[in-house]
Amino acid sequence: MLIVAGLSLKNLKPRVWDKTSPYYLPGVEAVMVSYTDFHKVTVQRQAAMTVGLHEYLGVSKNIKIYLDNGAFYFLTHDGETPRESYEEFVDKAKPDWWPIPQDFIPSPQMTLEQQQLCRKRTMDMNEAYQDDGYVPIIYISRVIEEYIAAVESSDALKAKSSIGLGGIVPNLLRAPKAMPYQQVFDNLTRVRQVFAGKELHLFGVGGTATLHLAALMDIDSVDSSGWRNRAARGIVQLPGSGDRMVASLGSWRGRAPDKDEWDVLTACVCPACQHYGLDGLKGSGIGGFCSRATHNLWVLLNEANEIQTRLEAGTYGSWYVDHLDNSIYRSLVQQAFALREHRMNNTELDRETATTLLIRNEAAHGGSAALLLDEPPIREAFLHLGRVGADDDALGQAQT
Ligand SMILES: [Zn+2]
Repeated sequence: MLIVAGLSLKNLKPRVWDKTSPYYLPGVEAVMVSYTDFHKVTVQRQAAMTVGLHEYLGVSKNIKIYLDNGAFYFLTHDGETPRESYEEFVDKAKPDWWPIPQDFIPSPQMTLEQQQLCRKRTMDMNEAYQDDGYVPIIYISRVIEEYIAAVESSDALKAKSSIGLGGIVPNLLRAPKAMPYQQVFDNLTRVRQVFAGKELHLFGVGGTATLHLAALMDIDSVDSSGWRNRAARGIVQLPGSGDRMVASLGSWRGRAPDKDEWDVLTACVCPACQHYGLDGLKGSGIGGFCSRATHNLWVLLNEANEIQTRLEAGTYGSWYVDHLDNSIYRSLVQQAFALREHRMNNTELDRETATTLLIRNEAAHGGSAALLLDEPPIREAFLHLGRVGADDDALGQAQT
């Protein structure tokens, strides 16, 4: 599974893709920028169109550049994406992957009618851009079957090699009126099955645990700005664990590492920790931000590799039980893994097994995982539906 590292034009540091940077991560194979950033700064937009995105960002050709359309920003600010400007940008700046100019985000709280309207408007856009390299977007939602039917009924859309999937973040995080987990998994399983052979990209996957879920569902790529957003709030990620707060910045609160976790951080071999150690992770200002962000992305890339290796070796099932210490997500991962095993073995998951998994799952959450929304970065991810570039305001704090 490809991890696409979300960047922000406001601050391109740490330059994790740049071999000359102390924060260089050889594992970075793809980055994502948001059209919102270019829309806001005409000079940058023009420069990127003149020399192309790769040269503009100093990203070598063997690293893919994904473009996000900034749908969330435009829906909440200007109302509508300037389609012609977006088309011109795609044409001249030449990203390696780019979605339709705008999709209409259905939040779980919306009524069915409102969700239908979002679906119709998004599908209209998918159809308007069906004949070229624009990646269509569909939403994990209560109207998923209608999305699938609409894609299936169009020869051009059916022939697309890639599909973008939105909507998983608010649903997995138990936003008000979120779909039951089982339904989210069923949605994803169904999409994976119907669009077998297509590359599925999942928007906005930030934590290590959600990475497990995406990998178990055979998603091809995920993007994340979480490594930067967390770093800006003084948070570091740990393999298989939840987030830990290592630097006090402003009003952000979070759980501090325990002794064992400090030991893990002390022994970390990521480039940032190798260069700047714990003082780097704990630092304020741009230095601390760069250390934490680099560390976080390194953890995500390593976790993805490890998951892949374990799944291929058939040892994932015995590994994740000890590896993942986040009890809330672990039951979800358990369910996803069981579903995957059934899918791989081509066996139908019988209702009894499914029900047992679901009950165990819900019990582990005390019926609800709303407490997840108490975690600032998670709430943030939910509020912004995990869209890249949607929120970098906190970066300003980190840099000053
Ligand atoms: Zn590190």
